[in-house]
Amino acid sequence: MRKHHLSGKLLRKAKRDYPLNEKCELCHKGNRKLDYHHWDDSKPWVGVWCCLKCHRMVEAVENPGFGVIVERYGELKREVDS
Ligand SMILES: [Zn+2]
Repeated sequence: MRKHHLSGKLLRKAKRDYPLNEKCELCHKGNRKLDYHHWDDSKPWVGVWCCLKCHRMVEAVENPGFGVIVERYGELKREVDS
């Protein structure tokens, strides 16, 4: 049990530093509290600091269905607007 706990601790690494300017690393706005977005659960310390709005956007971008929806949206817009 104790050994397990220790090895778990050794595997943990620090998140990247909170931006010094306290601004979102994606939209560069500094008026919001920043979240840490990571994309690989096996190394959750690898990530970017971003505001809630950007966090939602990047979560959407990383959804496997994103490309299909973007394409369909483009087609549908043209269809509806013609
Ligand atoms: Zn942002």
